[in-house]
Amino acid sequence: MALKFCGLCDGLLYPSEGTIPNTLVYKCKNECNNEELAEDMCVYKLDFDKYPTYMPSSEDNGTNPMVARTKAVICPLCNHDEAFYFQAPNIGRCVVLKFVCCNTNCTNCWTE
Ligand SMILES: [Zn+2]
Ligand SMILES: [Zn+2]
Repeated sequence: MALKFCGLCDGLLYPSEGTIPNTLVYKCKNECNNEELAEDMCVYKLDFDKYPTYMPSSEDNGTNPMVARTKAVICPLCNHDEAFYFQAPNIGRCVVLKFVCCNTNCTNCWTE
């Protein structure tokens, strides 16, 4: 994704969740505290891959209603045939389904 720069001080902007829930804003790294509303909400999806906000653990199995197990997917990394899956928070129109490999030596996280 293209880098964005602050209109006030030319500082680098980084994506962040806006003060209004489910909005994406770009915030300036500098002291000017500039915030620019993102036009493309789907940018957020890419950031989820790098920084998963919620990683289910084996203790979640059956107890956390947010997390379910499925044998319908194969881990692209280790070919394990069972994974946790959960829906990442909706950002705009983007519904993001995350999978986390049940192989404790792998715990690969990917997006369908
Ligand atoms: Zn700035
Ligand atoms: Zn795996």
